[in-house]
Amino acid sequence: MSLPPGVLHALQDAVGSAHVVTDPALLAVWERDGSIARGLPDVVVLPATTAEVQAVVGIAARHGLPLVARGAGSGLSGGAVTVCGGISLQTTRMRRILRIDPSRRWALVEPGVANGDLNAQAERQGLFYAPDPSSRRTCTIGGNAAENAGGARSIRYGVTGQHVLGAEVVLADGTVHWLGGESAERSGFDLLDLLIGSEGTLGVITRIQTRLVPLPEVSATIASAFDSVAAANGCVSEVLARGVDPAALEVMDATTAAAVEARFRIGCPAGAGAVLITELHSSLSAAGEQLAETASAVRVSGGAEVAVATEPGEAERIWEARRGAIAALAGIGPNFYLHDMAAPRSQLPELIALAAEIGRDCAVPVASVFHAGDGSLHPTLLYDARERRALEAVVAAGEAMLLACVAAGGTLTGEHGIGVEKSDLLSALNGPNEIRSMVGVKRAFDPAGILNPGKIFPSPAAGARPEPRAGTTQDAQWW
Ligand SMILES: Cc1cc2nc3c(=O)[nH]c(=O)nc-3n(C[C@H](O)[C@H](O)[C@H](O)COP(=O)(O)OP(=O)(O)OC[C@H]3O[C@@H](n4cnc5c(N)ncnc54)[C@H](O)[C@@H]3O)c2cc1C
Repeated sequence: MSLPPGVLHALQDAVGSAHVVTDPALLAVWERDGSIARGLPDVVVLPATTAEVQAVVGIAARHGLPLVARGAGSGLSGGAVTVCGGISLQTTRMRRILRIDPSRRWALVEPGVANGDLNAQAERQGLFYAPDPSSRRTCTIGGNAAENAGGARSIRYGVTGQHVLGAEVVLADGTVHWLGGESAERSGFDLLDLLIGSEGTLGVITRIQTRLVPLPEVSATIASAFDSVAAANGCVSEVLARGVDPAALEVMDATTAAAVEARFRIGCPAGAGAVLITELHSSLSAAGEQLAETASAVRVSGGAEVAVATEPGEAERIWEARRGAIAALAGIGPNFYLHDMAAPRSQLPELIALAAEIGRDCAVPVASVFHAGDGSLHPTLLYDARERRALEAVVAAGEAMLLACVAAGGTLTGEHGIGVEKSDLLSALNGPNEIRSMVGVKRAFDPAGILNPGKIFPSPAAGARPEPRAGTTQDAQWW
């Protein structure tokens, strides 16, 4: 798609020509996110204010151009990929933390603020922003809201939706609205709730008011090794049954644990079948008992504690290792396809074994991690994209895993969204009436289908989707 006459000048007028990118060599930077999907935008714009976003949305609406909001591009389902070409609207110039109100415990931020930056500021006031995707150093609060991102701490604090109090949004017709607010009560439909997790298909978020919570008096992180994923998962149940209220429960399978140990040296024994990382947030008075109960739960579940960190620096070393798991796996395969699904906790060991089996059948090594608390499961398929047909095998294996998860009572996504990668599988989980209702909502917000076309809905149900651009989306699977 080449841009209609006049569009480039209008965009340059709207945001300043220094903030409009059309050089094909540079556009390649925006071709992908963290997934395997790809699609070149025709133009990238970097607005700095809500008014500039409004102007850009207005131009897209007048010319019927696809417009895809983009934060850090760390998404893992192709959400920020311009699969139909058009405008990539990058929010990272909108990265001001506008206010932190410690007495009312909220922050007002622009969408391009990195999750880690908000936390660094909030911590100076004794508070923190709880949703903690492993990508938190780079991913933006806007991207988190659009994906309803989760993280290790979801078990205790919930996902992004439980922390967004309000948001300013520019709709497809260019109007600006404030949704939600400090009061939990909503009059009529809860449009804020609809916006959170809508993956950029209903509007461009330009400001977000987030809840902040007090830093715990004591934070402790414990890494324990087990013979098997089932034993580590059993320990999770044991910890919870003892009334411990953990802030995080993360499990790495044997392959991931070995790769992480080789790179980060957290003290995990060779040949461990799984590693469980438990984080405890508690009051000073309860900390001793919580630590003792956790240690005892590890013992009775057949595990052994390999590291106990009560100082922030030591704990960060363990979390760096967990967050660095994908990089650590690069020795097995230079490319990765990280899947995301969620299932009841009791099903997780079986699903991990099944994922490994599917991988073996397709000759694709698989390494898994899961947020044991909320059942978000991430089998990571490792491959070498230079090998012929490697990607085909990986896509087939990934799809088989997702369908197995749905068959086991799970869902297609735990936290990364449907994006472009799983849109054609949506009907495996939702009936035609449900999908029709969702498409109806999309059309009510965006009748011309300009906002993030090609995402969430199976083709061709969304109807309003513009024609795909030939040749730029060879890995995207939705048509
Ligand atoms: C190593 C790694 C670890 C990860 N760990 C986790 C994890 O633990 N938990 C988790 O949930 N995710 C995780 N992710 C996935 C990803 O980081 C999250 O989905 C994150 O929320 C995406 O934020 P982003 O700023 O990168 O958004 P992008 O990737 O840029 O965009 C994601 C989606 O949000 C939309 N969007 C972005 N900004 C806006 C806006 N202002 N208005 C409207 N729509 C918008 C885009 O159109 C797109 O659909 C991980 C990713 C990586 C690479």
